[in-house]
Amino acid sequence: MRRPSPRPRAAARRWSLLAALLLALAVGTAAGQTALVVNGVTVDGSTTSLVKGTSYAPAAALASALGARYFTDADTTVATLQLGGHVLEAVIATDPSKASAAGALRLDGTAIGGPAGVMQDGDVYLPVKQVAEALGGHVAYLQQQKTVVVVQPRAQLTGLTAQGSGSSQQLVLQLSAPVGFSRFYNQPVTTLQLHFDRTDLQGGLSGVQGDSFVRADASSSGDGVDVRVQLAPHTDYRLYSLPDGNGFRVVVSFTPASAAQQTAPHIVIDPGHGGQDPGINFPGYGSEASLTLAFSQQLQKILEGRGFQVTLTRTGDYSVDAATRSRDGIGADLFVSIHGSVLPPGQFNAYYLSDASSVGSLSMAIRQNAQSAVQGQDVSALRRKILLGLVPQLDVGRSFADGLGTQLFQNGGYRASDTGGAPLYVLGGAAGRGVMLEFSPQDLASDTLAAALAGALANLLASGGATQ
Ligand SMILES: [Zn+2]
Repeated sequence: MRRPSPRPRAAARRWSLLAALLLALAVGTAAGQTALVVNGVTVDGSTTSLVKGTSYAPAAALASALGARYFTDADTTVATLQLGGHVLEAVIATDPSKASAAGALRLDGTAIGGPAGVMQDGDVYLPVKQVAEALGGHVAYLQQQKTVVVVQPRAQLTGLTAQGSGSSQQLVLQLSAPVGFSRFYNQPVTTLQLHFDRTDLQGGLSGVQGDSFVRADASSSGDGVDVRVQLAPHTDYRLYSLPDGNGFRVVVSFTPASAAQQTAPHIVIDPGHGGQDPGINFPGYGSEASLTLAFSQQLQKILEGRGFQVTLTRTGDYSVDAATRSRDGIGADLFVSIHGSVLPPGQFNAYYLSDASSVGSLSMAIRQNAQSAVQGQDVSALRRKILLGLVPQLDVGRSFADGLGTQLFQNGGYRASDTGGAPLYVLGGAAGRGVMLEFSPQDLASDTLAAALAGALANLLASGGATQ
């Protein structure tokens, strides 16, 4: 049989490319702007009018086209993109003429050249070239078509290995380029599923068996690769990603779900402020520093009476820096930081450690961190660790904060006014096992709160922090 001539097909392909470029041109000229195509998909809304000669695109759409997670803090001062074990942060300028400030773009905490993000009519815009290149993309400008073209390499899953042995064994996935991935944990069948976008499976790679997990299998799925991990019974997992060469590694580590408690749980109580830092002055009740210390000592006595091992980060009226307080929390079963706040009696706020990506508590964290004289770079390093999943047991703090809302209401009628996650530096040492509580001065000075809180903490520790 005669093979069909390749000509018509090549011509058709050339024609469709031309059509795509004409379409891009039409889109670009209609808005008086350049067009943007990322990995073959048109991203609407790109513009060079914010900062002359620099191509900007709406942040959320750009991040999505690049496969990156995108979020901003509550006050929209920093835009964060996360992809392939990297964290890219862009300061958001409200005045485009100030967008070229030094240090406006940071990759993994290190400043990279490039202008800031820009806020325009309530939308955040990011500089296309610098953001795309930082996340592994190649950028070209087609002058005639007035089109910016971004292409990220597809990734290959090149490794699926069990490293180490016994209960400290980890499953390590090796990807050759930064690509987005999603995860789904199917609780009833204890299966963790990961889907990697724009990824191919390296030939010969299939499954692996482990000591701390049953097995892991990889298969092609649509445009990407699925990895299915069968967990051993009664096992928790933790997942984080790390940059590695041009690509990244995803590490899944496993821990027994309920390690038996050998000794009495150790609770660290952190009375806020002290010494040169009196905190808030509450007329009629004194300083926040004196209120939190007296309350913490009362709480300590009650908890010790219930058999807990209790340590205070400060036992008198002197200054303790945030790093020391935070270090005291290392290894604790629970770290409770106590503060006063201008709240009606009977109300309290409970915060846990998180990146504050979806709650309005980052400004509270900035205030608390600033009061403790914590440097911005330390907070940003902590935040990066949280974002990359390097802080274990984050859900413990969350479930304690949520659980306290229930317990303190049942056990004294206290209402949680605000509960949320925030990158609170002082909670860093305890990793996920920390909460920061703010009470009214009336409640801190009362006889009833310490007993109610001790009861709630004991119940939550007994149930592993579970809400019910
Ligand atoms: Zn305070």
